[in-house]
Amino acid sequence: MDKSAAEIYRSLPQVSAYLDSEVGRALSDEFGQGVTKLELRRLLEELRQEIKNGRRSSPVDPAELQGTLRTRIIRLCRPEGRAAINATGVVLHTGLGRSPLSRTAREAMQFEGYSIVQLDLETGGRSVREHHIEAMLRELTGCEAATIVNNNAAATFLVLNELGAGREMIISRGQLIEIGGSFRMPVVMEQSGTVLREVGTTNRTHLKDYEAALSERTAAILHVHPSNYAIRGFSSTPSIAELVELGAAHNVPVIADLGSGAIVGLSEFGLKDVTTIAEALRVGALVTCSSGDKLICGPQAGLLCGSKDVIERLRKNPFARMFRVDKCTLAAMEATLAAYVNGTYREEIPLYRMLSHSVEDLETRAQALVDAMKEFPAVAARVETVGTFVGGGSLPDESVPSRALRLALCPTSAQASSTASDSIRRFAQDFSHRLRVSFPSVICRVSDDACYFDLRTVFPEEDHQLLQVLRRVLSAEGFR
Ligand SMILES: *Cc1c(COP(=O)(O)O)cnc(C)c1O
Repeated sequence: MDKSAAEIYRSLPQVSAYLDSEVGRALSDEFGQGVTKLELRRLLEELRQEIKNGRRSSPVDPAELQGTLRTRIIRLCRPEGRAAINATGVVLHTGLGRSPLSRTAREAMQFEGYSIVQLDLETGGRSVREHHIEAMLRELTGCEAATIVNNNAAATFLVLNELGAGREMIISRGQLIEIGGSFRMPVVMEQSGTVLREVGTTNRTHLKDYEAALSERTAAILHVHPSNYAIRGFSSTPSIAELVELGAAHNVPVIADLGSGAIVGLSEFGLKDVTTIAEALRVGALVTCSSGDKLICGPQAGLLCGSKDVIERLRKNPFARMFRVDKCTLAAMEATLAAYVNGTYREEIPLYRMLSHSVEDLETRAQALVDAMKEFPAVAARVETVGTFVGGGSLPDESVPSRALRLALCPTSAQASSTASDSIRRFAQDFSHRLRVSFPSVICRVSDDACYFDLRTVFPEEDHQLLQVLRRVLSAEGFR
């Protein structure tokens, strides 16, 4: 029965009284008084809004309040509040922080007190903070010099501003991309002060289109990796090498925004090869821009590799100071690059480990989960053949064969046939939601009214935890 709003309001506790209560004191002891108070205030404010908007028709249950408050405090300030199991089958998932870091990269960020960031130990003066990263990138890519900024968006912007401000940059209309959020190439170019000179069409751009656009105003030709999409069929666009050749005849350099920017090829993992930084430089790109946390698998960063002269200019650009990386990023990137220098990236870097798992192993792991689901006869569990995507826009079209646990509501357990499809659909939505809000969060893929758990992106050592969460949520929902 609906209660009056006034009555429901009265079920909300006073902040100070709650903090003084046994429950409030226990939460404060466990998590600290400040965060307990902060989350309590926010939660009460939300509840007041709900009552005001008529979205709440029952008094607030103290046990529910305590449970919700506890969950929110953990999400706010505890590492377990962030922990997630990625069962989506997308390795570089932006919502889950893109590349998981290697153990050495994680350990490199555990500083005790101070650390050497930008200090020349010989002279006591200031040094270049990225000189270790530069040394390793020179070794790995053959570049003359390299620098690092906060992300690839910043890297691209910095290059455009330094090399193109007040002049023209030629870019194919097929490469005027948008990459989620607000990174739209035409806007970025405009904001950087360079004049966008679009050539060609969406699906086809010819070398002669670039040639016709060259003039004394041209600062550079910009080649952008078509991240997150692919144009199939009647399409073509000149390669970086062809653009370099054209540019060289007119003294115009080529800038390559590689997007994910790999250090190693992907063919050994059964994927189409991507342009590595080394290849782009070998064919003559003046400078390359790439993300640190896509295929390179380090922390969020933008890596710039190129000629000594250009990198020197970029370092002196006023924006470089704004895009400067902190000590955590430096340490994690150094440790990540060391795995490539040592040739141990296949074992050390999670993405390459994931791509290396055999389908047989994934099948065995998926089958073990299917077997464990037998204790829930109301759900139908089976092993499904799926494809894992690399993500990060690197290879939008390609997947690696994988195996998933597929969970759906048993048709027999949905009663009347008219409502059966409804409840089957609702199961997949509700179940995936409950998994997301659990500890740790489990993120799966929902498709054709079922939940898919791709085992390739789940760390093998997480299988047990995944099973525990599945059991916990299914038991709580009464599926046993
Ligand atoms: C991802 C991407 C960017 C942006 O990189 P961030 O590291 O996310 O800032 C820029 N250009 C291309 C081609 C990309 O794929």
